[in-house]
Amino acid sequence: MAILDEPIREPVLLKNYVGGEWIESKGELHDIVNPATQKVVGRAPASTVDEVNAAVEEAKTAFPEWRATPPVARARYLFGLRELMEECFEDLSRIQSMEHGKTIDESRGETRRGIEGVEVGAGIPSLMMGYNLEDIASGIDEYVIRQPLGAFGIIAPYNFPFMVPLWFAPYAVATGNCIIVKPSPRDPISQTKIAELVEEADFPPGVWNVVHGAGDAATALIDHPDIVGMTFVGSTKVAKEVYRRCGERGKRVIAQGGAKNFVVVMPDCNVQRTIPALMTSFFGNTGQRCLSGANLLVVGDNRFYQELMDAVARATSRIRVGYGLDETIQMGPMQSPGGKASVLGYIEKGLEEGARLRLDGRKPEILGDYPDTCFLGPTVFEDVAPDMAIGREEIFGPIMSVMRAKDLDEAIETIHSNPYGNSACIFTSSGKHARQFQYDVAAGNVGVNIGIAAPMAFFPFSGMKDSFFGVLHGQGQEAVRFFTESKVVIQRWF
Ligand code: NAD
Repeated sequence: MAILDEPIREPVLLKNYVGGEWIESKGELHDIVNPATQKVVGRAPASTVDEVNAAVEEAKTAFPEWRATPPVARARYLFGLRELMEECFEDLSRIQSMEHGKTIDESRGETRRGIEGVEVGAGIPSLMMGYNLEDIASGIDEYVIRQPLGAFGIIAPYNFPFMVPLWFAPYAVATGNCIIVKPSPRDPISQTKIAELVEEADFPPGVWNVVHGAGDAATALIDHPDIVGMTFVGSTKVAKEVYRRCGERGKRVIAQGGAKNFVVVMPDCNVQRTIPALMTSFFGNTGQRCLSGANLLVVGDNRFYQELMDAVARATSRIRVGYGLDETIQMGPMQSPGGKASVLGYIEKGLEEGARLRLDGRKPEILGDYPDTCFLGPTVFEDVAPDMAIGREEIFGPIMSVMRAKDLDEAIETIHSNPYGNSACIFTSSGKHARQFQYDVAAGNVGVNIGIAAPMAFFPFSGMKDSFFGVLHGQGQEAVRFFTESKVVIQRWF
């Protein structure tokens, strides 16, 4: 049980990175606590409205020169940032484990995914090209060019503190915009570290800013008249509010919300390969993942069901819970005591509503000597109905709610009775079932024999129903379109 070296030895006082300067906020400070050890790892401010406004002003001032910088030159800054991220890969990953609690493997995966966003953004000279047609009428040519818009705000959730802003930021700056990132107040150290690398990569001042704070800072950002657009990732309640606020102010917006993802297991699946995928899907990142499996929907007769559930219970009970910087650990703590309390509340609700507790994660065996403040073990509920709270609402913790369906049609019907539509996965060896599922299911990210349908950086990160508000998505070509305006030029030669 060796613990990897912790890159944060003393609590860090986080400053805002604005206009290329590190500025101490006048706002109130709060502690950032390592959820496994309960040690304070940092202090972050609730930035004032004036401080947010100053960041927008810097971004606005930097914009004219940055947009006029050739795309290949802008891409070079991203190449530089990418190299620095690679050099600091391990520290960046360990910081995530310290401020969020996830296992080091999960953090390394997150760092890799974040870097991929920067790599794809560096392809901007070809991604941003327009198109043209000669002789749309005799002697007249038409061009479409893509232009940046100005200052964008990027608001992030706590569950992927490193990666989520990188679904947007590289594309925003590569296309010639300037940004203000507002990380989650719960684990904002990773984004501060990225800002340090942005500074080292010598980005012009004001292009990439980071401002700390919670809802007030976020609202000040959205409301600022010089902010042309927003990206938001977080809970559905706030996503709807951000979408409405941006709409009323005529701003473009991507607002990604919460999730309640179904994983369908067909009796024709390869059980041996399905079980490990289910473990990662439901319990990876301690269930705090918008693409996590939440409801396991089993199709098939009693015999198949019992065999599958026995295998699920065996694998689940073997999951090693502890501090994520121990490389043998498979599940870290919840990110906060509040998150743990909320999951415990759902376990109570599940019991009250008549679901059967197959595996109880309330008092887990914790490997290592850590306070149990945020720790939970994996929990499995059987006999769950889709309209029970544990079957319907986003729990955002390590609970698997198991339901049954007589066939695939009924499974899809059950999925559609839920208001969310972030992800849905199926495990099957039948091409017909796979085709029907991906064709019919109302979910933005679909997995076939994949438990976490996370799109790579060059594909859009989708979402439907109560999981997504907007038109274009983060990542890839859609992000390039979101961060640019099409301008049409019609030209006649005399
Ligand atoms: P949250 O909604 O509580 O907070 C998200 C961000 O919004 C934070 O930075 C917070 O400070 C800010 N915020 C708070 N009040 C605000 C307001 N009134 N206006 C604007 N911003 C405000 O979410 P969270 O608890 O940090 O993250 C977990 C949620 O995020 C889960 O619901 C999860 O499903 C969702 N999530 C979704 C995706 C996706 O791609 N759809 C990805 C990751 C997480």
